[in-house]
Amino acid sequence: MAKDMAIENGLSADAKFDTRALQQLDSAHYLHPFTDHAALRARGARVIVRADGIYLWDSDGQRILDGMSGLWCVNAGYGRASIVEAAARQMATLPFYNSFFNTTNVPALQLAARLAELAPPGFEHVFFTSSGSEANDTALRMVWRYWQIMDQPQRRIVISRRNAYHGSTVAGASLGGMAAMHVQGSMPIPDIHHIEQPNFADHGRGMSEAQFGLLAADWLEQAILDLGPDRVAAFIGEPVQGAGGVIIPPRTYWPQIQRICDKYGILLVADEVICGFGQLGSWFGCEQFGMRPDLISFAKGVTSGYMPLGGVLVAGRVAHALVEQGGDFNHGFTYSGHPVACAAALENLRILADEGLVERVAQETGPHLKTAFASLAAHPLVGHAESIGMAAALNLVRRKGAALHDGEPFARALGVGMLCRQHMFDNGVIMRAVGDRMIVAPPLVMTCAQIDEMVERIRICLDLTLEDVAGRGWLF
Ligand SMILES: *Cc1c(COP(=O)(O)O)cnc(C)c1O
Repeated sequence: MAKDMAIENGLSADAKFDTRALQQLDSAHYLHPFTDHAALRARGARVIVRADGIYLWDSDGQRILDGMSGLWCVNAGYGRASIVEAAARQMATLPFYNSFFNTTNVPALQLAARLAELAPPGFEHVFFTSSGSEANDTALRMVWRYWQIMDQPQRRIVISRRNAYHGSTVAGASLGGMAAMHVQGSMPIPDIHHIEQPNFADHGRGMSEAQFGLLAADWLEQAILDLGPDRVAAFIGEPVQGAGGVIIPPRTYWPQIQRICDKYGILLVADEVICGFGQLGSWFGCEQFGMRPDLISFAKGVTSGYMPLGGVLVAGRVAHALVEQGGDFNHGFTYSGHPVACAAALENLRILADEGLVERVAQETGPHLKTAFASLAAHPLVGHAESIGMAAALNLVRRKGAALHDGEPFARALGVGMLCRQHMFDNGVIMRAVGDRMIVAPPLVMTCAQIDEMVERIRICLDLTLEDVAGRGWLF
């Protein structure tokens, strides 16, 4: 099917591209996200021209196994004719209408109802955006508005974590804990406070994971007491930090966070932009971690990336305040509830459910990925490897240590992670580098055999990276 579609668009599988010319045009005009453009110009961007299943093809005809699902989003895999058809049908019927002035559209209301079914109990309402960043902006607006309606407008502070990723708009980047983003603007904006992340490898030396989870959660209570409990509005966190490097918190962490939120009456926002829609082997990540959030932000996997769509699911007391008490909530986007994006989402969610992909991750492919990744931990360059559902990480080390999380890191400035990523890309597999932590988040359609294929390629590329760093004299 992908092939037929490609031919219709004049891009047959054997179409020829002038890669050099495309790269020149690209660097002359196209500003990329999170990119050093001078460096990109020197190297030339890789031109991705088509995709099917779990594979991408570049303009030179190289086939690449996509271990990152595009950017954590192509959960249903590439080349899904039925999503294309659902979007095309909707475009032909009603390409756009707004939901501002007492109007609605069928895909948006159907999707809202479907999400209420899929979400944890208590989530009956949803606000739509076009991205995860806008979803978190919306969550922040809702948190502030909620406390106004509750006659506690002094509750404005939102607590987040260092190395969290909540998007790239001003509010998203402020809620996020990425120092490299903050230093390039006046961020974070006022009333956003960051505590340390629950990263056992970095901060858990000398204790058990369970002990560390409780300690890391208590950093929240300490911050609440320092800032003043009557000034704190909400805590926001990804159940598992994605862009921060697939940081899987100890099992004791979220239940303790939940207890602390309950104790001080503060709202909990779960950023499920990555964790939602099956990546961790459940429809939402919070279900696995003992979280009872008031708000859930989502995006990415809701459409498998076929169309831009995000939103916020709203539960209980916040929904009641916004819907029954608050009157106008002066917030919204032109594309809130975009009919074509919602139609694509509905079909994508049908695929995830009908093909049992979320259960398959929980029962079959997730455990298989865990075993396969664990085998990589024996590699001389790997300190340790871990995974949850279809998300996995390993850290590259100069010298292995005896204890689980030990191992001597490379100097950060050497950029060994980026070097490794380049070997991967050159050899047809995409892994992302977060510092020297190498991560994958494959499409949920990836089979066990394809996981083996991916992990074998990763192993070969780790060998190549090892040779490379040894040759540069970086090992000792
Ligand atoms: C990607 C991401 C976002 C931002 O989503 P955009 O669609 O890029 O704006 C927010 N939160 C998390 C956890 C993400 O992974």
